[in-house]
Amino acid sequence: MEQPIPPYLFAFAVGELGYRDVGPRTRVYSEAVPAVLEAAAAEFAGTEDMVRQGERLFGDYEWERFDLLVLPPSFPYGGMENPRMVFLTPTLIKGDASGAQVVAHELAHSWTGNLITNKTNEHCWLNEGFTTYAERRIVEAVQGEEMAALNIGIGWRGLKEEVERFSDNMEFTKLRTKQEGVHPDDVGSRVPYEKGFQFLWRIEREVGRPAFDEFLKKYIATFKFKSIDTEMFLEFLKTNIPGIEKKIDLVLWTEGTGIPPDAFEPISNIYTRIVTLANEFKDGRMPGDDEVADWQGQEWELYLKNLPKSVEASQILALDARYRLSESKDYEVKVAFLQLAISSGCSQYQGEVESTLKEVGRLKYLRPLYAALVQGSGRQEEKLFAKRVFAEARDCYHPIAQGVVESIFSKHT
Ligand SMILES: [Zn+2]
Repeated sequence: MEQPIPPYLFAFAVGELGYRDVGPRTRVYSEAVPAVLEAAAAEFAGTEDMVRQGERLFGDYEWERFDLLVLPPSFPYGGMENPRMVFLTPTLIKGDASGAQVVAHELAHSWTGNLITNKTNEHCWLNEGFTTYAERRIVEAVQGEEMAALNIGIGWRGLKEEVERFSDNMEFTKLRTKQEGVHPDDVGSRVPYEKGFQFLWRIEREVGRPAFDEFLKKYIATFKFKSIDTEMFLEFLKTNIPGIEKKIDLVLWTEGTGIPPDAFEPISNIYTRIVTLANEFKDGRMPGDDEVADWQGQEWELYLKNLPKSVEASQILALDARYRLSESKDYEVKVAFLQLAISSGCSQYQGEVESTLKEVGRLKYLRPLYAALVQGSGRQEEKLFAKRVFAEARDCYHPIAQGVVESIFSKHT
């Protein structure tokens, strides 16, 4: 690689690999199993279109190649943005190109994160918040405004949950955190992603999209191949958008805890319709076949995440009998459903929970499932179940995932 960057992470992948070319600068690699390669190539066929949209929005793609490597199910993350070769979880391959959202995220890091890097982890939002914003702009360009609004809605829900999770340690609901003596894995959360996104979206709404796009391009051109911190960003913002500090409380956004009052829930037809349907479920109304006819994974995910934390077990069973969510091939849907089933006290899904925890090692699924099992209303049986499954699955998890699950156990037992 010609481009000099600070090496803060080394990533190795070893295996018997094959590949398919899916674009002029994109090759998809995976284990050399033809069926896996074909499915991966089909899922990520739209990658070059996204790279071009990224260039239109943020300036030239500076890394020449944008290759993708699909890893085994134990990979603990959705993706990792190694320059020139992004690593991906195989759970993105669902056969409907919806995995493109994570690819859009890792691609967006080619500008924000890899070109401009946070100086330390305390300024992580400069990497992840900008990238979440850029990801949603790419999604909007290739999949439309409604899909982008759905993503924003899922993120908004996630941000509120994270702020609750840190209610005993609000320091980590700040954008700019103090992490001396803290292990980054212990405070990893959606806050830098989603609160960072909200901050940038707030600025965009204040100045208007054309002015904000111009600002973003200038920001990237000015700081590319440099490492920066929050103070440098704020200086640059105030210089290039004079008077912004009088319109937006920049100190509250960057140093305050929780969600600022001028943060914004997305408005779109589909988002509002799904959230309304979820609220009606509390009164015993289930969505009708015609209402969910065009729903795919993300619509179901948003619906399930907006249901109350625990509802009557009989309602959960009725929902599943009708829509077979526990059998979904899409892990986002399946895990959101199982999480709800556990916290509502449905014990008939233990087999499904166990096989899920043994099939995949992605933290996005392990964290909520193990947490739901051990947090339960003190049911000892579920805690013992969780411990047995972990003991049997542990060796198949990545060491980072092992540590996260162990810390969930130590916090709740
Ligand atoms: Zn990221």
